[in-house]
Amino acid sequence: MAAVPEYFGSLVFDDRVMKANLSAEVYQSLRKTIDEGAKLNIGVANAVAAAMKDWAVAHGATHFTHWFQPLTGVTAEKHDSFITPSPDGGVIMEFSGKELIQGEPDASSFPSGGLRATFEARGYTAWDPTSYAFIKDKTLCIPTAFCGYNGEALDKKTPLLRSMEALNRQALRILRLFGSTEVKRVNTAVGPEQEYFLVDADMWAKRRDLRFTGRTLFGAKPPKGQEMDDHYFGTIKPRVAAYMTDLNDELWKLGILAKTQHNEVAPAQHELAPIYTTTNVSTDHNQLTMEVMQKVAARHGLVCLLHEKPFVGVNGSGKHNNWSIATDTGVNLLSPGETPYENAQFLLFLCAVIKAVDDYQDLLRISVATAGNDHRLGANEAPPAVVSIFLGDELAAILGCIEHDAPYTSIDTGKVRLGVDVLPKFRRDTTDRNRTSPFAFTGNKFEFRMVGSSDSIACANIMLNTAVAESLRVYADRLEGAEDFESALQAMIRKTIQDHKRIIFNGNGYEEAWIREAEKRGLSNCRTTPDCVARLLDGKNVELLTSHRVFTRAELESRYEVTLENYCKTIIIEANTMVDMARTEIVPAVEACVLDTARAAAAKKELVPGCSCEYEAGLVKRLSALVDQIAVRTAELEETVLALSAIGDIGAEAAAIRDKVLPKMGELRLPCDQAETLTPRKYWPFPTYGDLLFGVR
Ligand code: ADP
Ligand code: MG
Repeated sequence: MAAVPEYFGSLVFDDRVMKANLSAEVYQSLRKTIDEGAKLNIGVANAVAAAMKDWAVAHGATHFTHWFQPLTGVTAEKHDSFITPSPDGGVIMEFSGKELIQGEPDASSFPSGGLRATFEARGYTAWDPTSYAFIKDKTLCIPTAFCGYNGEALDKKTPLLRSMEALNRQALRILRLFGSTEVKRVNTAVGPEQEYFLVDADMWAKRRDLRFTGRTLFGAKPPKGQEMDDHYFGTIKPRVAAYMTDLNDELWKLGILAKTQHNEVAPAQHELAPIYTTTNVSTDHNQLTMEVMQKVAARHGLVCLLHEKPFVGVNGSGKHNNWSIATDTGVNLLSPGETPYENAQFLLFLCAVIKAVDDYQDLLRISVATAGNDHRLGANEAPPAVVSIFLGDELAAILGCIEHDAPYTSIDTGKVRLGVDVLPKFRRDTTDRNRTSPFAFTGNKFEFRMVGSSDSIACANIMLNTAVAESLRVYADRLEGAEDFESALQAMIRKTIQDHKRIIFNGNGYEEAWIREAEKRGLSNCRTTPDCVARLLDGKNVELLTSHRVFTRAELESRYEVTLENYCKTIIIEANTMVDMARTEIVPAVEACVLDTARAAAAKKELVPGCSCEYEAGLVKRLSALVDQIAVRTAELEETVLALSAIGDIGAEAAAIRDKVLPKMGELRLPCDQAETLTPRKYWPFPTYGDLLFGVR
């Protein structure tokens, strides 16, 4: 086996390959496009395409595809081979600059939330040269944005790139005010920690709920769950270790910086974290990681579950979005500095984030809203649905002193009067963490912990980038016009702390008391997806996202539609799966047991005159009663779902699903799970929680 540095990125058309395969002139020109967004001329595009094709063919590729991220949340690809007929009856392999830059997939079957009704049915994909092309399944994949013919974004990448641009624009204004001339670009960087479950593939195949919905819809509590805390960071079992080894290899070949792996809290739950990188690349990589995780699992007789809540009663899975802002000169703007100049700048960016998160709590909540994630948020295993910021006691105390212009007693320097440029050294202790906070400062980055495990990180970062861009815009507007920069800066930082301190909370986010306190502070608490999504179209949110040119109003309306459509469809499929399983698997299984037990009792009575058959009679009675209940509740759930079709409005339908369908699903599950605990195992039609959670060795 070759050493990792030898094969890392071997399937990526990265900078090393570009340098080696492009003329100096073409390389320079492409680099300018990648680094500064300069337009690429067709001559250069042709040269790049030819080099890409030669490289890809040499690595066994036969096809190419524009790889994009429609609103389905997963990636899409349509493969075209490189072949072109030659006059002699054979073929040659060809790939043009035009094909590289733009593709035209038939877009009509992707969700568009009504966007396409008003525009053309076709869409086009446009190359994102800032994310390297790579080879997957003998296909050269070109990361692209996906738009309608009038430029309307039909994907998650286009608004993400626009949000990065918005933040870059405003951050540069601020840096110029601080005297920086050399910084050309400010980017956000993200390291997403990905949680997942591994279950045995044979067991998975026997569960229609897992196959159709990605989560279990039935299942009694097993004798053992996560109460022993013996899985978290525990020794990795051989089969899982073999999977992780294989997974890392595949990811490394794709240039993905897979770094940390460990067992998570729930049995069968694990985590993979890459080293952070530029947000759009990180987003592409995370989509690719989720895909590769599932593919590699199949090779090991496993299935990788990315659902936010595959099992009731044990922790679900999230994706911590570690986020920071950095300059192209390598300065992390969320890192407290050594000099007064750096301190003032750090405080300003910190305040920009505090203001952004407070002003746009609802957008952050909306950005993680899915049917799956609703099961996690607020369930004491993930942050509550209330957005707040954890700064740590020390930093919070520092901000408190700045707010009140009070002296601060520091361990190192004693009493100091803080100004915008005088910051005491404070601990950057990354172990003393508050894991219950949805948005935690961890020394030089923020960790947004509300993202669901199966979600694209694009949405969360679009909202985060844009909200922070807006804070910076407000600051830049004020500071650019200020007579005295220093005092204006000081006043603005103080005012931000005063106006937005309600969003800062360092306590235990899982406590009921916090939810009440948050309400008093006027923070929003949207427990479910239908609760929050309507707010996407609130005036202030539309204003934010359109003024920074991240979404048009029509694009926002389409996201509203698609998010709710997705919520409704997901839960309707779950409800239908429950009806199907209850009727065709659970009821017949319990009935068979009832019948056998009754027969056994009759036989026993014949053999043992006077035998009361109390056990059999009791079991038959209890199971029969449960079967009746199951039958009634199945019918009720079915009717409730059917009644939805009479509702015309998507918002009303989503609300009905939340208020009527979900409770009916809960009601049906109850007698089924009870029956499971009473029915001898040989009758039960599918693997149990115990089998699934402890079945991989
Ligand atoms: P944990 O939260 O599990 O203790 P770490 O905080 O060390 O783990 O890292 C979590 C993730 O944060 C990793 O993906 C890491 O690359 C990323 N990360 C570290 N520094 C930064 C940064 N400055 N900006 C963005 N992400 C970062
Ligand atoms: Mg971690």
